[in-house]
Amino acid sequence: MKVLVAEDDLTSRTLLVSVLRKWGFEPVVAEDGEEALALLEGPGAARLVLLDWSMPRVDGVEACRRLREREDPDDPPYVVLLTGRSEKESIVEGLEAGANDYVTKPYDNEELRARLRVGERMLALQEALNGAKAALIHQARHDGLTGILNRRAVLEELERLLLRTGVVVALCDLDRFKEVNDRHGHLVGDDVLRAFASRIGERLEKGDLFGRYGGEEFLLGFPSLGENRPFLEGLVRDLSSRGLPTRSGEVRVTMSVGAVWGRGGGRLDLLLARADEALYRAKREGRDRVVFAPSPEGEAT
Ligand code: GH3
Ligand code: MG
Ligand code: MG
Ligand code: MG
Repeated sequence: MKVLVAEDDLTSRTLLVSVLRKWGFEPVVAEDGEEALALLEGPGAARLVLLDWSMPRVDGVEACRRLREREDPDDPPYVVLLTGRSEKESIVEGLEAGANDYVTKPYDNEELRARLRVGERMLALQEALNGAKAALIHQARHDGLTGILNRRAVLEELERLLLRTGVVVALCDLDRFKEVNDRHGHLVGDDVLRAFASRIGERLEKGDLFGRYGGEEFLLGFPSLGENRPFLEGLVRDLSSRGLPTRSGEVRVTMSVGAVWGRGGGRLDLLLARADEALYRAKREGRDRVVFAPSPEGEAT
């Protein structure tokens, strides 16, 4: 693990660096607080920090204060102050500035080592917590079966996209999916849904939105200056012409798509209502097809 060492005194610095190496740390050296602040910026910077209290330009306490002001609240560094003054008053000042711990000079090597290990443990806990938080956020936004965005997330993203640009909104519903379940069983039905999601996903560009709207219904949205009928028809044809892989072999399904184009800044709820009507028409007219609804605000270009 990297440890940033800020110490102006050459002898102390050399000693520190050599014991840190001996303990298996990877020391990164600064000669004052200003240099330390620069070295602690950006990705890959040390998270464990040893700051000497008295240094020219920016001292340890001030460096600590500035570090705390700019830190990412989810990823604060662990700071140990090296202080030559053992007066209670100065220790309080150091801790108030945001130091996690302090070691009084002249320090005992074993004590310094133990305190660095505490810092290491704290940082490991913090990292584990951040990992768990990221996993939960991912779970809250993705569908458990297919791994694509869930209904809430795709709606949120679509709202955001629509603020910026014209969008094609398409509701894609698998045709007679109940029969797939009845014929092959629910587990194969699940395989079909997963394979369907990855088949469509392969055809999408970065920035296109695709989510599970519910059951065997999916919501697709992509930036567009007008109706992009050929693209959606391509997806429909691709699906009907090639079966999807499942645990009991290929299963062929088709989908019906109800679509609408909306200009940037328009209302998503209106677009979804239109797309839903168009989907209903696609079903009535024989399935395995795309039906576009007229845009709610002016005609598509
Ligand atoms: P239509 O062409 O009119 O859309 O017919 P359909 O059979 O697809 O429509 P319906 O709404 O009657 O049935 C949808 C079926 O999708 C019923 C339900 O069991 C199935 N389904 C929904 N979610 C899942 C799922 O997560 N896994 C599986 N295996 N089936 C699902
Ligand atoms: Mg000093
Ligand atoms: Mg269906
Ligand atoms: Mg349905």
